[in-house]
Amino acid sequence: MENRSLQAVPQELLRGLEASRQSTASSTGQAACPIARIRQSLNSANLRPTRQRMLLGWLLFAKGHRHLSAEELFEEARAARAFLSLATVYNTLNQFSEAGLLRKVTNVGGRAVFDTNPNFHHHFLCQHDGSVIDIPPSAIGLGAIPEPPPGYRIVDVEVVVRLRKKGQSL
Ligand SMILES: [Zn+2]
Repeated sequence: MENRSLQAVPQELLRGLEASRQSTASSTGQAACPIARIRQSLNSANLRPTRQRMLLGWLLFAKGHRHLSAEELFEEARAARAFLSLATVYNTLNQFSEAGLLRKVTNVGGRAVFDTNPNFHHHFLCQHDGSVIDIPPSAIGLGAIPEPPPGYRIVDVEVVVRLRKKGQSL
């Protein structure tokens, strides 16, 4: 993936939106253009590809797998001269998460961290700064998982290993 500066995003996005109207899916069913892929993901999650969702999807998914908070995405949108409210960013992240495009990792001190890799894996959680590090699924052996309470089904299982720096009490 070529490196684009944040400032270039809105122009890229507009061009991409235009291009994605004409783009066709490749033989694998995955659109080649990243913008078209985001549009395809939104469509398959039954989310209308509004300009806001496309912009936030672009900012989120064009940089590979990462973890970030609503506040961090809000700052990236601002840097890209897209002046969305923090509430809009937060709502969109939750919609993406409910649609399975993202995973909400956990709340760290009241701050939700979202993961652009929706596939099964675990996390280290650094308590001093709220940062999140991936743990591959094979690195943790899961024992027996209890039956869910009546009326519930298990949607996801994730292990969060909390870390504290050596020598620090908190
Ligand atoms: Zn992760």
